[in-house]
Amino acid sequence: MTVTTPGLHHVTAIAGDPQTNADFYAGTLGLRFVKRTVNYDDTGTYHFYFGDRQGTPGTNITFFPWTDQGRQGRFGAGQTAFTAYLIRPDSLDYWVERLDSAGIDVERTDRFDERVLRFPDPDGITLELVASSSADSDAEAWENSPVPPEHQLRGFHSVTLAVDTFDPTASVLTDVLGYELAEEVDGRRRFRAQGRGPGSVIDLVETDSGRGRMGIGTVHHVAFRAADVSEQKRWREKYAEYGLSPTEIIDRKYFRSIYCREPGGVLFEMATTGPGFTVDEPVEELGTRLQLPEWLEDEREVIEARLPELDGID
Ligand code: ZN
Repeated sequence: MTVTTPGLHHVTAIAGDPQTNADFYAGTLGLRFVKRTVNYDDTGTYHFYFGDRQGTPGTNITFFPWTDQGRQGRFGAGQTAFTAYLIRPDSLDYWVERLDSAGIDVERTDRFDERVLRFPDPDGITLELVASSSADSDAEAWENSPVPPEHQLRGFHSVTLAVDTFDPTASVLTDVLGYELAEEVDGRRRFRAQGRGPGSVIDLVETDSGRGRMGIGTVHHVAFRAADVSEQKRWREKYAEYGLSPTEIIDRKYFRSIYCREPGGVLFEMATTGPGFTVDEPVEELGTRLQLPEWLEDEREVIEARLPELDGID
C-alpha cells in the first residue's frame, strides 16, 4: 500500500526577540511552552516549541528566535502565508476580545463557510484562528494556561502556502503526500489529507510578489506526520522516485526527520510522531528548563552562557 500522511506535525518559523516570542505564544495565545532547547544546527540560538499539554503532533508551532539583530525576512512565493489554529465556534468572541485587549489588530473573514480571525504575531508572522465544529482535535488542554480550557487552541487547522503557480506544489501534495483537491474558491485551492484529523488541510494561493526571503517574521518549514522510521524510509523512496531530493533521516531527539524542498520553494519536513517531548523530562515539567541532546550536553556551560536570558512568561 502506498504511504500517505494524516497532516501537519509542526510548523517552524523565525522570530526576533526570544522573550517577546515566548510571552506571545505561551502568554497571549496560551499554548504550553513544551520545550526549550537550542537549534541543533546553530547552538547559539534557542529552539522553542509551543503546543498543547503534551506537545501532541499537530499542535506544535516552533521557533528559532534569532534576536532583534537577526536578518528580517520578506514574504513571497515559496513561503507559508498563513498558519491557522483551530478553535471552537463559540470561542470566537473570547478571542476577539482577548486579542483586542492585547492591542492586536484582528481582521475577521469567512472562508469555505468557516469564520476566520487573522492577525500578526509580534514579528509579523500571520496567524489565523479558524472556528470549526466539524474538525476533530487530539489536543489536550493545558491546565496552567492563561486561556480557559474550553477556549484553548485545538491544534492546527491548516497552513496556506503561497506559490508562483499552483501546479508543481499541487502535484507534490496529491501525487506524493496523498492529499486530495477538495475545493477551489476565490483563487484558493484547498487540499485535504486522507482522514479528517487536526492539521489535515493545506491551502494553496498564487502570489506574484516574487520569491520570499527567509528571515525573522517568516515560516522556515512545515512538517508532516509520519508514523515511524520504517514509514519514513518508504517516504524517502517515494520522494526519490518523484525526483525530489530528500535528506537522510536526521535525529531531532523528539522525532526523526527528513527534509526536501518542493518545486514551489517550500521546505517540507516529514517527522515521526514519536518518541515525543517526554523523552528527556516528565510531562509536568515540560519546557521549564533548557534541554540539550546527549551530543551537546558536554558543551552545556558554553551554550548556556551564549544564549540570551529568558525570564518567566508574561
Ligand atoms: Zn521541523
